[in-house]
Amino acid sequence: MNAEILAIGTELLLGEIVDTNTAVLARALRSVGIDLYRTVIVGDNVERIAQAVREAVQRSDVVITTGGLGPTVDDASREGVAQALGVPTEFRPELWEQIQERFARYGRKPTENNRQQAMLPVGALAVENPVGTAPAFMLETASSVVIALPGVPSEMSYLLETAVLPYLHRRLDLSAIIKSRVLKIAGMGESWLDERVADLERSANPTVGLSAHPGQVDVRITAKAASEAEADQMLDQVEATLRERLGTAIYGVDSETLEQVAARMLAARGWRLALIEHGTGGGLATLMQQHADVFAGRRMLPERLDASALAAAVDRARRELEAQAGLGVVAWRESDRTVMLFHLATPGECQDAERSYGGPPANAAQWAINMALDFLRRRLA
Ligand code: ATP
Ligand code: MG
Repeated sequence: MNAEILAIGTELLLGEIVDTNTAVLARALRSVGIDLYRTVIVGDNVERIAQAVREAVQRSDVVITTGGLGPTVDDASREGVAQALGVPTEFRPELWEQIQERFARYGRKPTENNRQQAMLPVGALAVENPVGTAPAFMLETASSVVIALPGVPSEMSYLLETAVLPYLHRRLDLSAIIKSRVLKIAGMGESWLDERVADLERSANPTVGLSAHPGQVDVRITAKAASEAEADQMLDQVEATLRERLGTAIYGVDSETLEQVAARMLAARGWRLALIEHGTGGGLATLMQQHADVFAGRRMLPERLDASALAAAVDRARRELEAQAGLGVVAWRESDRTVMLFHLATPGECQDAERSYGGPPANAAQWAINMALDFLRRRLA
């Protein structure tokens, strides 16, 4: 979170008083870990205050102004902040009552000017000022908050301690809950995915980002919220949208892997899998070996086979290893691409496929393994 301070007062610009409020605010911000990037001084002029606030809210999460909340025409902060945020000011009868009560306590009567101090930008939250007359205020926008404090140093410090710092603490804590969820995609390329989620990738909260791996893409959703439950709900919503758009391309969530999903599906059917592998460095069997309950074994292929020889080899392996399912994968390099044949045999059904991969050769084996597992899990789904 970053902040900007705006000290308001023509006396400051004339050098008649020294701006000590900015230093007090700067130290307070530092104490709660909010970065201060810039401080500005402007005179008591509605347009210049409005311009400074408008610029500050574009740059910063927190904009604190000090000064200009008094009862006279040259106290221009209320109007300046309102103009900057594009809202009118409104008379708040309850604030006017508070002001009158405070005057009564000192045995004085407010002037018509003091009514000014009961005017606040529409949407502002009044911050009662028991040590002075003018209420301070805070105004939240979609992305930031403007906090307008009085200029009298003792009043400003009091409201800083009793209202502003507690508020900033809450706000910091609120934003501290950040949760992520990863939807795992296989069998579809990054551009296919990009086309379907481009609008979500532009959203600020939750954010949606893609990271591509050979034969797989991770879609990471990250939500920032006030509570864990709220963050979960935001994640659920985006997940539902993504599932609607991407359907069966999503095979898992978070740390789930393709081979875990495939093994789980095999187990659910009570099937065991026999593998035939060539050109993948034996990586498919290495993965499936971790699931001894569904892995029946592997037959090595001494040479590259064509589709019909692959189908026959898968059938033989299935019989010999007494497996219900058989998966054969043959991958080879052909000029600038890797070509791959699959054969999947399950009770009562056979499927063949051919794919080609033009990505970096170093990734080709991983790509082929992921494609094979994707082929398997789609058949079992
Ligand atoms: P008031 O109701 O007294 O008019 P205000 O919020 O309008 O309060 P200003 O009129 O801007 O505040 O300032 C009131 C007095 O507070 C100034 O005369 C000055 O003595 C002091 N003051 C204002 N701004 C600063 C500052 N940045 N640093 C130190 N003192 C300040
Ligand atoms: Mg004043």
